[in-house]
Amino acid sequence: MDYSKASGKAAGLPVPDPCVSFWQQTTRSFPYLSLNKDEPVPAESKYVIIGSGISGALTTYELIQGGVPPEDIVIFEAREAASGASSRNAGHVRPDAFRGFQVYKQVHGQDQALKIIANERLVFERIDEFVKQHGVPCDFHPATTFDVCLTQEFADFNARSYREYRDAGGDVSHVRFYEGEAARQVTRVEKAVAAYEWPAGSSHPAKLAQWLLAQSIEKGVRLFTHCPATSVTKSASSTADQTLWDVSTPRGATEASVVVHCTNAFAPHLLPQLARFVTPNRAQAHAFVPPPALSASSMLAATMSLRHTLKHFYSVAQRRADGVVILGAPRSNPNVSVAAIEGVLSADDSAFDEEVRDDAVVNFEACFPACEKGRLRHGEGLLHTWTGIIGMTTDSVPFVGKIESLPGQWICAGFNGHGMARIFTCAPGVAKLILGGSWEDTGLPECFEITEQRLDKLKQGVSGSVF
Ligand SMILES: Cc1cc2nc3c(=O)[nH]c(=O)nc-3n(C[C@H](O)[C@H](O)[C@H](O)COP(=O)(O)OP(=O)(O)OC[C@H]3O[C@@H](n4cnc5c(N)ncnc54)[C@H](O)[C@@H]3O)c2cc1C
Repeated sequence: MDYSKASGKAAGLPVPDPCVSFWQQTTRSFPYLSLNKDEPVPAESKYVIIGSGISGALTTYELIQGGVPPEDIVIFEAREAASGASSRNAGHVRPDAFRGFQVYKQVHGQDQALKIIANERLVFERIDEFVKQHGVPCDFHPATTFDVCLTQEFADFNARSYREYRDAGGDVSHVRFYEGEAARQVTRVEKAVAAYEWPAGSSHPAKLAQWLLAQSIEKGVRLFTHCPATSVTKSASSTADQTLWDVSTPRGATEASVVVHCTNAFAPHLLPQLARFVTPNRAQAHAFVPPPALSASSMLAATMSLRHTLKHFYSVAQRRADGVVILGAPRSNPNVSVAAIEGVLSADDSAFDEEVRDDAVVNFEACFPACEKGRLRHGEGLLHTWTGIIGMTTDSVPFVGKIESLPGQWICAGFNGHGMARIFTCAPGVAKLILGGSWEDTGLPECFEITEQRLDKLKQGVSGSVF
């Protein structure tokens, strides 16, 4: 079942009472979590950023780097600071090395497909560089990752993607391939049929988002939390030369000349023209305390995607900081009931699904038998389960750039549950555009741009799902 097509309904606003993720549990001391939660919003601000996840936080950071005075920027966040997908993900900073190439090629053409994959590698390098340069305390750990093929069917699919990507001129010099016994040894997964390995990393995503926000707030940016933007309408004081926008919230309206939508799955609430093309999916993740067989010097050196098929896969990232294993669950899952599948179509991250949780743990145990329930001590095993809402787009790439029909409004949203491998080029890209740069200056694949032409193509039903 292709969830990105099936949902067909926009997310509305984020629910006000979401569950608390592992990342949020471990950052309750962030001083700006509920900043200005009861304050009225200012009547005017040149820039309004809507959404305080990594997209909104990094766009703000980059605008300031580009010369925008921090006091000219306000951020509206519907809930706690960075309480969307950015504080709820599975911790992977994992570029696609070739796997999605076949599908991207069908939807966007070969040239763009090559650029999409190359951009992901660049994002990983950018995050690595950024974290090192600024000493960001976000538990970032650059290492490698395995695509573990658990079935011959998926091994064949991946082999074809690898071949097609390489033959089209894609760089695979950083990808290592293992088959049979070699794959089993290197991954430690007994069921592995084959495996591919390439550079990737993991991080504490909430710490990264919070660090970015703190930099801007401490320079003078005003963040208003628990403050959903409920509409963006043309201001009566707009002139022939300049359109101004009233961004309404329950605590007043702010007039702005630049509005940036960093609302990911929730973008269509303020931009209903995107309702058919950005749909919410609820994704679920789990924290697992490992037994000695996966602790200390026996920790997993690489992160993994344990893959049965293209869409039926489980992510595994063991944190260097404390050894906790973060398990991501599939949204496309033949092992769970229709009710659990319907949960995936929800935009409500206050709840989680027990079937999805149990299936994720069973799959992990099957791959790492030392983690089976019966073999664990009290205190080992499942620690926490949480959910978050991801923004699926019908053509599997984000919407970035100027919204042509709404002068002064911009977007950086629709990350398909894959934002950690995209936002670090998209948010700087949108900041460059706002500051007068060209699309070429962003270095992003052209297919990411939110053009009328792309929207027309999508209206005609062009689609393709990688995630
Ligand atoms: C369980 C799970 C696992 C994931 N695993 C991975 C992974 O391993 N690797 C990876 O690359 N990606 C992963 N992702 C996806 C990744 O987290 C997202 O792509 C990324 O965080 C998106 O960042 P963002 O800033 O665009 O959106 P978000 O972090 O969702 O931020 C959007 C913000 O906008 C706010 N908002 C929305 N509407 C309004 C409004 N009208 N007014 C004010 N505020 C509003 C929201 O509250 C939210 O804080 C995962 C996501 C989930 C949920």
